[in-house]
Amino acid sequence: MTTARLLIRGGTLITLAEGQGDPPVGDVLVEGGRIVAIGAGLEAGDAEVINAASMIVMPGFVDTHRHTWQTCVRHRYADVTPDQYFGGFLPERGPRYRPEDVYIGNLLGALSAIDAGVTTILDWSQIQNTPDHTDEAIRGLRDAGIRAVFAHGIPMTEFMAWGVDSPRVHPSDIRRVRETTLSSDDALVTLAMAGRGPEMTADGIWQADLKLARELGIRSSIHMGAFPFNGEKGAISQMHAAGLLGDDLTFIHCNCCHDDEFKMMADAGVTASLGVNVEQNCIGIGDLPFDRLLAAGIEPSLSGDAETLGCSDMFTQMRQAIGYYRSWIGGGHSRAVDAPSYLGAADALRFATVRGAEANGLAKKVGTLEVGKAADIICIRATDLNLAPVSNPIAAVVHGAHPGNVDTVLVEGRVLKRAGVIVGHDLLRLREIATASQKHILADD
Ligand SMILES: [Zn+2]
Repeated sequence: MTTARLLIRGGTLITLAEGQGDPPVGDVLVEGGRIVAIGAGLEAGDAEVINAASMIVMPGFVDTHRHTWQTCVRHRYADVTPDQYFGGFLPERGPRYRPEDVYIGNLLGALSAIDAGVTTILDWSQIQNTPDHTDEAIRGLRDAGIRAVFAHGIPMTEFMAWGVDSPRVHPSDIRRVRETTLSSDDALVTLAMAGRGPEMTADGIWQADLKLARELGIRSSIHMGAFPFNGEKGAISQMHAAGLLGDDLTFIHCNCCHDDEFKMMADAGVTASLGVNVEQNCIGIGDLPFDRLLAAGIEPSLSGDAETLGCSDMFTQMRQAIGYYRSWIGGGHSRAVDAPSYLGAADALRFATVRGAEANGLAKKVGTLEVGKAADIICIRATDLNLAPVSNPIAAVVHGAHPGNVDTVLVEGRVLKRAGVIVGHDLLRLREIATASQKHILADD
């Protein structure tokens, strides 16, 4: 449903705009998918009114790395050894995916993101088994109505050949996608490259991949240094030595990267994405590098990563980030001399919104509530039993809220969740199709 004019009235406004003090009570006027006014007592005129008197109103969360195609087998590998995911699921189950499995995974994953107040995701796809798989991934995102950066990756048909010292350059079908389906950088779904970088490719290949992404005018998102054997490759140092680091790059995880490499990232404007829950849940991944990144001057974005391995919502990422930071770093265990000693709720909320927007190349469009930005807005019910009575709105969202408190979600002015319910989708049917897809993917498991 498209709403031409819409007034969100009387909410507690966490705008996350630079310099905002205590969140005021006020209105947000939306027109043509954009925020056109913020203030108290705005005239509704002919606009539809959403009564937000008992709500916290804030920008939607921005996720910078999510393997959405895996949604129909979510949590299957969250309680087993990582080998069963990397050595079992990816190489053995990935080839089984049909285009319709990718579609339903992306649709369900995007809708559940919206349900949890996430209005933008970077879909780190790596299931480009055929052009049809790619097209269905994009269709799933579009049908959900979410804002998405579709990061085009490798096929899962021959995981080892594509993922271990690979001599293969990035699948050329990305050119077709850029020239046809995702040619616009202003659309709701835009294109990026899910790159492999020096950790997964032979020398010369990652340089060619990066050249291609830059020729196509798109950003690259690359996994870096999650496990110790990844970090030992010194991939960031290699990219630095080649003079190829740049502000069009986002590095994911970075747990086992060297402090010097964080300095290289900061100098080049490279952004970071931490999949907090999965990094803590997946045995063998190094410590969260929050302290070392912050010491280098990089505020990371947050990401849900693979729901096969854990939990994707941003409330979880924020709380685990704070819990880790306060218990481990606050307990005097920091490996970085210059790391801040404390991580506050406002910091975590900024990582989950503003820094996400930057890492997805969408800082001018989303991440804060400001006049001129896209109307990607969420309303959280402050009267729910787990939040009321609210004494500090930012602390309530970060320390207390969960996806069930998200009442209303707008993306580019369209209401996608209203009164706690996803609108415009037959969820019963969706679950049936997702269950059938799961059975196909996991058959004989
Ligand atoms: Zn990942």
